[in-house]
Amino acid sequence: MQLISRTAWGAPATSPAAALPSARGVAVHYLGTRYDSRPHSQCAAMVRSIRASHLANKQENYADVAYNYLVCEHGYVYEGRGAGRRSGANGGTAQNTSHYAVCALHGTTGQPSDALLRGLAEAIAHLQQHGAGREVVCHGDLTATACPGGPLTSWVRAGHPLPEVKPGAGSTRHTVVRGETLTAIARRYGVTVAAIASANGLPDPDRIAAGQQLTIPKATAPARPKVSLARLIAAAKADPPKTGTPVSYSGVRTVEEALRAEGLLAGQYVDGHFGSVTVSAYAAWQRRCGYTGRDADGIPGRASLQRLGTKRGFDVTN
Ligand SMILES: [Zn+2]
Ligand SMILES: [Zn+2]
Repeated sequence: MQLISRTAWGAPATSPAAALPSARGVAVHYLGTRYDSRPHSQCAAMVRSIRASHLANKQENYADVAYNYLVCEHGYVYEGRGAGRRSGANGGTAQNTSHYAVCALHGTTGQPSDALLRGLAEAIAHLQQHGAGREVVCHGDLTATACPGGPLTSWVRAGHPLPEVKPGAGSTRHTVVRGETLTAIARRYGVTVAAIASANGLPDPDRIAAGQQLTIPKATAPARPKVSLARLIAAAKADPPKTGTPVSYSGVRTVEEALRAEGLLAGQYVDGHFGSVTVSAYAAWQRRCGYTGRDADGIPGRASLQRLGTKRGFDVTN
């Protein structure tokens, strides 16, 4: 899931909304107004304006943006109230405590993009991992409203499937957002870093800039990175923090991306160097796996690495 945290889009770090550790399920919403497609660079401002309009709504007396998550047409998931918090969007206290709320940045016209549907499915799955039951409903199932509109209602009725990656589809365009790495983009589209680099003539895959337009070649075989345990351990034992110098082993970045996805490593440290911050982050992962003492010293072992790879999409080799 390409999560954009509250602080990243410009909201206070923690939502003041009341805690709600579990609920029956998740309700899907849309904007309910006309919404024209726009570049991703404008999506954070859109989310901020939604929050501002909710805070300005004296009748509802909102403490925060009403949704738990919001998803843009480019597939990014914006942290609203977040997991484990009561929604304010479902139309009443009973509905707000029975279901969390996920809102698509989609309007009354057009079809939701595949990226949007993927992001919605990921946000729903994330809520299900954090207290939501299996029930996925339309806002209109909870209260009298047309929300979330025809196409999204059909998608919910169909069991909110992940859109298929069509093997025959041509290339697509992707606009790089701040902090995004080529590894993350490649994983998202199911292509290799090398394929994107060659399709765009990138001399250095480590250097991409926010706002840069990339051509994403069509997916070929599912790209599943391999991480060598021996080379990773060597990097973890040897790498001093030296951002900007060549990395000792490219698999380090794959592991760092996974640690970041787990919320254990800040994006600025996803730099290909297994430095002290990455060691601490890996130690936190080992503790999460149940290891203690010397077994959680931040130097990867096979079992913890395999567990990370299974969860975050890479294979472990010797
Ligand atoms: Zn709604
Ligand atoms: Zn966007």
